[in-house]
Amino acid sequence: MDEIQAGISHSKENFQLRSKPWYRLYLKVIENALKFYLGEENVPNEATLLKLIGKVDCNHYNFGEEKTEICALFIGASKFDHSCVPNASVHFNGKSIQLKAIKKIDKFDKVTFSYCRMFSGLEVSTIYLTMKDSLGEGGCYCSDCSQPYGTSPLTKILDPPRAVHILEETEGHLLMASLMAKYKYPMGWFSQERLKQLLKKQEGVLDDTNLARIRSLALKCLMLNGNDFEMREELMTLASWVKRVWGENYEELTEIYEKLIEINAKLNDAESYKYYVNELIRLRMICFGKEDAVKKALESLIRI
Ligand SMILES: [Zn+2]
Repeated sequence: MDEIQAGISHSKENFQLRSKPWYRLYLKVIENALKFYLGEENVPNEATLLKLIGKVDCNHYNFGEEKTEICALFIGASKFDHSCVPNASVHFNGKSIQLKAIKKIDKFDKVTFSYCRMFSGLEVSTIYLTMKDSLGEGGCYCSDCSQPYGTSPLTKILDPPRAVHILEETEGHLLMASLMAKYKYPMGWFSQERLKQLLKKQEGVLDDTNLARIRSLALKCLMLNGNDFEMREELMTLASWVKRVWGENYEELTEIYEKLIEINAKLNDAESYKYYVNELIRLRMICFGKEDAVKKALESLIRI
């Protein structure tokens, strides 16, 4: 089956890792579970099992708030590749998986979606931010990341000599933030002021569509509390940068709109509030369908 192919190269790459002691213990747990569900005589041999685990590892989907609540494997949907600048959005309605186009897809274009949250979540590691040249391999092979660093919108640099240090500093901050998020450590270590200085340093060095810059601003105005007026300005700036890269139908814009709805409610700005409620509903309808759009819009209004 085609979808299985995607997993094979990865399972080979990970084979060495899988022969390590801790992985062998993990394998035992899986073997025992299979014995329980399938009966001892139906448990595949170790080589087959490793291959199957590799395929499941590479093709499974996670859904839910932390993207860990539901784990499922879909035969058809396994065929779609990741892209850091996707043209579709994926949604699980509890029974089936749906892909929705978020921009015009030409006849022979590949349909792609993002396997991870690109800027609004910190659970993804910094592999997408890392300067490809410095590591040899950047970790992502999508068409955007396959271009030399500095040439795609997500990596665009304005001042290469100064960019090296600024990128190092930015990545240090983002790596720290992702570790803190992973281990649920309070984000208080970061201050609005510290990130403001970092964003200032990036000006004229990294293009506004550079992912390191987008994620820095997202960290400041999506993850931390700050002055409402300042955060509203920053969220609007962030939305404009995001639209430049991913288009106005990119699903992660929902987090920015939710925050803008909240802030405009606090600031009693009825007109802006209404505008972002409409934007949120419009976007969720495109990405996730009518039912989800209404449900989520009501949820965010109730929170306010
Ligand atoms: Zn990529």
